[in-house]
Amino acid sequence: MGQLHLHTPFSDGAITLENILDANYEFVAISDHDDTSAFATYKNLEKVGIEVIPAVEISCFFYGKKLHILSYWPNTNNRTFQNALAAFRHRRRVRTTDQINRLRAEGFDISENDFKKYGIIVKKFIANEVVNKQSNKKRLEKENIHTANQFIKNYLSFGKPTYVSLKRTPAEEVLPYAGGVLVLAHPGRNITPGKDDFIVEQLAYQLNIQGIETGSRRHTPEVKEHYDNLADKLGLVKTTSNDVHMVEQIPYNLEPYAKVEELKDRLNYVNKRVENKDEMVANY
Ligand SMILES: [Zn+2]
Repeated sequence: MGQLHLHTPFSDGAITLENILDANYEFVAISDHDDTSAFATYKNLEKVGIEVIPAVEISCFFYGKKLHILSYWPNTNNRTFQNALAAFRHRRRVRTTDQINRLRAEGFDISENDFKKYGIIVKKFIANEVVNKQSNKKRLEKENIHTANQFIKNYLSFGKPTYVSLKRTPAEEVLPYAGGVLVLAHPGRNITPGKDDFIVEQLAYQLNIQGIETGSRRHTPEVKEHYDNLADKLGLVKTTSNDVHMVEQIPYNLEPYAKVEELKDRLNYVNKRVENKDEMVANY
């Protein structure tokens, strides 16, 4: 058994090599946000017999929706792909600095130095830091803010003066270059089951998505069932993962090795399709 979706300190996760060794995984996909650099370090796990699947979770934008798409065995050497990831990481860094400066101007005690241990800084980290700092407590109490989620709602959400937007990469500008087996991650978190199913269909028709992560700690049983049915209808692979960011999330939502084999079959299929396309163009 193993885990198909896991984040390391190269992005916003906390999972170290040691944590994975302790987990007794048979395989693990290293799937950081918009960054493929962790693989060089984590592939060392193969020395002790754990299969390490290179992966990446791509942030993108499609039909007006923010989506996360996993690529298993991506084309890490494709320059267009890496440039698209680098451009997005840059925009995210600029957004974070802007966000922190606005919060400071608003009177909160927070600094970029507070986040050195992470590869990327997400809203949740900013909110946690502000809420947990003693120096901010008095003010937050006065505003009746007690949790990070309340802080996000009042200060870091669309429409609030300290909100800063982040330009996402259009899916069609990054996915065709990513290669690998593309799987839509936790759709229930980003789109509405039923109403937005056409988006999943278009991902399959236009962008060659091969699977849906239907099993997720982020899905209710009803949402899982909905996407299981949609995956069957579209001929897509159904995967389960725990989108692991923290150590306590390590043991749940595992997959048997047969799922890795299913994904490898898809990889062969996708690569054949690319070869055939080249041939078709050459013979035309
Ligand atoms: Zn994730």
